[in-house]
Amino acid sequence: MELLKLNKKYLIIDTSAILSGKSLNINDNRLITTNSVLSEINPGGKDYRNLQFLLEKGLNIYEPSKESIKYIINISKKTGDYTRLSNTDIDILALAFDFKDKSEFKDKIIILSDDYSIQNISNYLKIEYLNISQSGITKRFKWSYKCMGCGKKFKKNIKTCYICGSSIKNYVSKTNNINEFK
Ligand SMILES: [Zn+2]
Repeated sequence: MELLKLNKKYLIIDTSAILSGKSLNINDNRLITTNSVLSEINPGGKDYRNLQFLLEKGLNIYEPSKESIKYIINISKKTGDYTRLSNTDIDILALAFDFKDKSEFKDKIIILSDDYSIQNISNYLKIEYLNISQSGITKRFKWSYKCMGCGKKFKKNIKTCYICGSSIKNYVSKTNNINEFK
């Protein structure tokens, strides 16, 4: 299933994209998010590992301009979405607007979010958006766990190897297209 040609797009991802637990199939696209999204992911858990993986794959972090933040707040008050938007949501929209404002990115910006208010304002600003599940580019992680000492592989996430006592490393052993599971 190919929903969209997504080559060389700038995909702005929100927290829900990271919490979806899906790897994003990046190809020629660039993944972008804000510091406020990063701060919503608690260190240590599965979500944090997904985030680390995306960072290793080249997830870019940008800060939106103050002018765009103000603009998005004004627009969201007009559309009635303001009370439903978190500061992080506003940052995502403002960053998309910053990119949209630059002519070379104009038609290449897509917001990846499952948040209805983000989508509503994107629509208003004529910024393209996609649901995470609809994007057709999501993949699922398969995590594996391997002992750093003896190399034994484990199915569960344990801290120390019961054979040699060394620490266990988490790594992504496989990614599958979501569609393959349907
Ligand atoms: Zn071991």
